[in-house]
This record gives sequence, structure tokens and C-alpha cells, in this order.
Amino acid sequence: ATPMSVMVGVGKAAEAGVLIRNGEALQTASKITTMVLDKTGTITAGSPSVTDIIVLDDRDESRVLQLAASIESHSEHPLAMAVVSSAKEQSINLVEVTEFNAIAGQGVEGLCEGEHLLFGNEKLMTQQGVALDQAVEQGQQLAQQAKTPMYFAINNQLVAVIAVADAIKADSKAAIARLQSNGIKVVMLTGDNRDTAVAVAKQVGVDEFYAEVQPQDKAAQVEVFQQAGEIVGMVGDGINDAPALALADVGFAIGTGTDVAIESGDITLMRGSLHGLADAIAVSKATLTNIK
Ligand code: ADP
Ligand code: MG
Repeated sequence: ATPMSVMVGVGKAAEAGVLIRNGEALQTASKITTMVLDKTGTITAGSPSVTDIIVLDDRDESRVLQLAASIESHSEHPLAMAVVSSAKEQSINLVEVTEFNAIAGQGVEGLCEGEHLLFGNEKLMTQQGVALDQAVEQGQQLAQQAKTPMYFAINNQLVAVIAVADAIKADSKAAIARLQSNGIKVVMLTGDNRDTAVAVAKQVGVDEFYAEVQPQDKAAQVEVFQQAGEIVGMVGDGINDAPALALADVGFAIGTGTDVAIESGDITLMRGSLHGLADAIAVSKATLTNIK
């Protein structure tokens, strides 16, 4: 491509809120055959809120929320922010947590007032030897409503199931349909559990989805598609998406996402809407036509 036509394309895209950081990516965008989308913060708004707190022992609900929010205040995950805001809304004070540790794709742990706190998904509990018993069914029911269930254990005893729901962006479904009408296969990847993923995938109409994907496996999945001959676009917002964004033929970062994701992407969707994908592809096609 001539530098001039690329410059024009970059300017056109910017008008649509699509920031092109890499001119080569603009040329590749029109060749994408598979678009891989992260779920949380990409298809969904990424500002989940707490919907259910099921307490399983004799602690009261506000104490459970206080401890959960105290540990989550050390995490920058969207789920953590939901728990912290829920405590704030109820004017619950946070208490000190030490030895905080984030376990990627699973949850968090730390020490508080001499007790060990563990908060996260089913896998985290299973790996740490926390018995979930009937809580698994409660979690599944919540997940079927497209909510994300999280388990809370104190000293390795399960004390609560807390669910959050994250609204699907109003235009995600239409934006995905637009990509499909361009002949692009749309795939959703998420670290979230299978039941929640099924519920969201149905609502937005993706062609395929993969649930319970560990952060390091997002990039591996991109590579699987590339080795099958696909030209892969990857869209994400989180730190955990960064390696996949860097590896994809074109990495699209959500403008409201983390800095690490934005730096790893080639193109930033400033408006957060997934319509930016089809917009970028349209500009890419026009740019290539101008060159010929
Ligand atoms: P995604 O952005 O695709 O949902 P993540 O890898 O960020 O994937 O998270 C995967 C799962 O790990 C979440 O759905 C949640 O169950 C669990 N998890 C990760 N971080 C936290 C956290 N800070 N608090 C609770 N659960 C968490
Ligand atoms: Mg995400």
C-alpha cells in the first residue's frame, strides 16, 4: 500500500472511533476469516454487579460481603470491582488483607484477621480442596441465568456463593451479525464457566465458543486457528487477553480496557462498540481498493 492511502484510511477509521496504531494491520483487517472475541468486557459491558449472595454458614450477609470486598479490593478484575461496589453501596467498610495473591483465570486469596480467604471459581475451589457439595447446583442455576457464580471459602470451608451479572452490550448481537454477513466466522473465548458461556453465546449468536479457557490458552487457541489457515482477528480488553492480541493477525483492543491490552493491540476500538470491527474492515477494504 502507498503510505498516502494508508494515511487516508487511518484518518477515515479515526472518524468512526477506530484508532489504528499499526498501518499494516489496517491492510490485513479486510482479510480476516475468523474473529475471536473475549466475553467479559468485550461482548459484555464489563461492569458486572452483584445479583445474589447465598450464605451457607452462620455469618451474616454483610460480614461475608465485607470480607469478600476486602480481598477483591486488591484485584483489578471486573468481577472484583462488582463485589467492591456492592459493599460500598451498602456502606460496608473494608478491612485489611495481607499476603494477597491473584490466581489468573481462577480468583484471589489472602489473609484477613488471622483467617485465610479464598474467592473465585469452581476450579479454584477444587484445586485448593474446598468441598462444594450442593453449592455446585446452586452455581449452575445461577450460570444458566447468564450470571457468573463465585465461591467464597474461609479457612478452606465454603461460606458463600456470590453471583454477578454483566449486561451484554446493546449492539453486540448486531455487530456480530454484521461480521458474519461479511463471511467471517465469529468465535467467543472466555475464562468464565460453561453454563454462563452457553447462555451468552446463545444470546449474541456466535458461531462457536470455548469456555473455561485459561489466560495462557487464549493465545494458544488463536494459534490453532492460524495453523488451520485462518487469518485471525482477536478482540479483548483484559491483561489476560494481551498475549492473544499480540499473536493474532490483527489485535483489536477495547478502548475502555486495560493499558496492557491496548498496547498489545494493533487497533483500538475507542467507542467500545463491536461495530468498530466491521467499520475497520470496511475502511481496510476501501484502502486496498484505492491502492490498486
Ligand atoms: P474472562 O475475561 O474471559 O471472563 P478471566 O480469565 O479474566 O476471563 O477470568 C476467568 C474466571 O476466573 C472468571 O470468570 C472468574 O470465575 C475467575 N476469576 C478471575 N479473577 C477473579 C477475581 N478477582 N475474583 C473472582 N473470580 C475471579
Ligand atoms: Mg475480558
